[in-house]
Amino acid sequence: MALERTLCILKPDAVEKKKVGAILAKIEDAGFAILALRRVKLSMDVAEGFYAVHRERKFFGELVQFMIRSPVVVAVLEKESAVSAWRTLMGATDPAEADGGTIRKLFGANKGENATHGSDSVENAKTEIAYFFPASEVSPSA
Ligand code: GDP
Repeated sequence: MALERTLCILKPDAVEKKKVGAILAKIEDAGFAILALRRVKLSMDVAEGFYAVHRERKFFGELVQFMIRSPVVVAVLEKESAVSAWRTLMGATDPAEADGGTIRKLFGANKGENATHGSDSVENAKTEIAYFFPASEVSPSA
């Protein structure tokens, strides 16, 4: 196992429902260190750029509109195998299919409004972290 970092986004639905504290508590209880944290209202350009890989998907427009609807909270998480550990804690993309106790099961509404984002590989995590945080804003855990 290796110490990894991953990008976490608490999406507009989670922030609107005032679940930021509850979700961050679950993250810390699961042993992640929060190395950086910021609340931000994404612009259309930033949201489109972040999800550029999905540009051809039919839900792209809906996804971008959702992500700019209200502020999000972006965070850098660190833990052994953080990329897969955070995706396990989030649960499946569709909250209806997510395991009990996962964040998307607890706080997600549907496949679009599913409370959280997590990087899907170590490689993508590096790109996604750099998209939101200059290295100087990511402080080591100790
Ligand atoms: P993830 O890695 O589990 O977040 O899932 P994907 O990479 O497949 O999709 C990225 C994000 O696009 C998801 O988290 C959803 O917010 C959104 N998304 C995926 N499928 C749909 C869909 O069918 N409709 C809508 N509106 N959004 C979707």
